[in-house]
Amino acid sequence: MSSPLRVRIAPSPTGAIHLGLARTALFNWAYARGRKGQFVLRLEDTDRARSTRESETAIIEGLRWLGLDWDEGPELGGDYGPYRQSERIDRHRELMGSLMDTGHAYACFCTSERLSEVRERQQAANETPRYDRCCREIPIEEAQVRAASGEAFAVRFKVPTGQTGFQDLVRKEVVFENGEIDDWVMVRQSGDPTYNFVVACDDADMEITHVLRGEEHLVNTPKQVLLYAALGVSAPVFAHLPLLLGKGRKKLSKRDGGVSLSDYRDQGYPREAILNFLCMQGWALDGETDVFDLATFVEHFDLEDVSRGGAIFDFDKFLWLAGEYLHKETDEVLA
Ligand code: GLU
Repeated sequence: MSSPLRVRIAPSPTGAIHLGLARTALFNWAYARGRKGQFVLRLEDTDRARSTRESETAIIEGLRWLGLDWDEGPELGGDYGPYRQSERIDRHRELMGSLMDTGHAYACFCTSERLSEVRERQQAANETPRYDRCCREIPIEEAQVRAASGEAFAVRFKVPTGQTGFQDLVRKEVVFENGEIDDWVMVRQSGDPTYNFVVACDDADMEITHVLRGEEHLVNTPKQVLLYAALGVSAPVFAHLPLLLGKGRKKLSKRDGGVSLSDYRDQGYPREAILNFLCMQGWALDGETDVFDLATFVEHFDLEDVSRGGAIFDFDKFLWLAGEYLHKETDEVLA
């Protein structure tokens, strides 16, 4: 019987494969492969203006070039499809409707001018800008009449009082005060759903059991956890992987040797060296061995051993590692 473990990556097809995505993909893949789980590729193309088919192809080709494979995805299909978020929009609308019916979400008729005024006022008073919940208590019947008469509205999540905690295999117990969480927009006035809404809907519908993603999403997680509760489903287990940083713990940049996978591939660095180095971005085999292959990674990788601090992408070390792999190549391959 296959294990119920299901992980996914959900890249937005808006550009080249960033090294951070390559690392997240690799960790998800290894976690699934080491535990007889399933690895899913879902494309989060909800940003219609920025998503392109070229980027989709580049992501798929880049991950395949790395040697990763997945069990379900946009080009493979699978039992939980479709695997392009934009093709799941009917389901998102359905869930939006039920969340409004159950009082977990509400229509917000505020214009962008009003929202800007509120923000400016809060900034002037040195307060954290947030929605002032002006539409939160509009009776549902009144909201329905206004919506039916054509008044534009966004849909916001009604954040309850209290605290929201979740299990994170890297960061352990994480707890947020709900008072710090805005009544965030689930669906914009344009009808476009937002990331936090659809990612949780899709992860729930696809029965994803573990969400491994970059730490930049840690702040989004309580919103998603509250949404799971509102939908009446249990949240997956999370693992927020440390950010990939460049020298001086700054955002990874071109100066660190490149930010996208293709920067390295196109310069002819060995694929095995790139993979080996990505394995070490937040994880170590035994603190001594730097050169190891993918099979070793799959065998030993566990989220409990992922470091919490930032993973520093040390380009000099990468050059050394690439050299180790190049030494092993025959003259023919090198030529
Ligand atoms: N589309 C999001 C990203 O590329 C997915 C984040 C997630 O894994 O939830 O950052």
